[in-house]
Amino acid sequence: MAYHQRQLDALILLMRASGILTSKRVEDAVRENPRHLFLSEELQPHAYLDRALPTKEGQTISQPSTVVQMTELLDVERGQKILEIGTGSGWQAAILSTLAGPKGDVYSVESRESLVKLSKENLRRLGRMNVHVKQGDGSLGFPGAAPYDRVIVTAAAPDVPHSLIHQLKNGGKMVIPVGKTMQELRVIEKKDGVVTTRKEGLYLFVPLVGKEGFRSKGETSA
Ligand code: SAH
Repeated sequence: MAYHQRQLDALILLMRASGILTSKRVEDAVRENPRHLFLSEELQPHAYLDRALPTKEGQTISQPSTVVQMTELLDVERGQKILEIGTGSGWQAAILSTLAGPKGDVYSVESRESLVKLSKENLRRLGRMNVHVKQGDGSLGFPGAAPYDRVIVTAAAPDVPHSLIHQLKNGGKMVIPVGKTMQELRVIEKKDGVVTTRKEGLYLFVPLVGKEGFRSKGETSA
């Protein structure tokens, strides 16, 4: 544990120095959800390197600086209702759960059964009771609990799915990587029914495969 703690402290310092991590709330949420607890035992020694690592079925847990950057951009407030697409290990969902607090809710949609099972176990072990993992095609969002204050997509989309825009509250915010080979991170806001988009750098994600995503797994190189 002491070993993990030192590595995490070093990673936090690095992310602060590079300007990716700016808020104390996000730092605390990262500290409260230790990344190594979302990895298989043999990968745990690598938990605090700034790298994406495998989960299951060729999918990944995103690299810490990407998760932190997306979380900063999403700007979660306590008590909000959040939709995440691509639960994976459950790490990003756990961080959002801490930021939303006990009065907030995180709905997270994952298409692969093995990852639904893994993320549910990881989240239960940490006691993240306000995260609701759902199996399905998240490119269609999750209409059952819409509309949402915040929407975050953690897989590469060919374009912004209409369903997700539709399920975003007025005054809400969405962070989504869009693109085929590389993805640009888009921050989308809906105000008085008007949708605006800002672009924030290039990243590499595994593809969002679904009705409003890529049609097959081979369609992006990510
Ligand atoms: N947020 C995760 C990382 C997700 S990687 C974490 O913190 O660990 C992207 C995930 O999106 C993969 O697990 C993949 O299975 C999932 N995915 C791909 N297409 C999807 C879709 N249409 N709906 C839901 N999940 C999808």
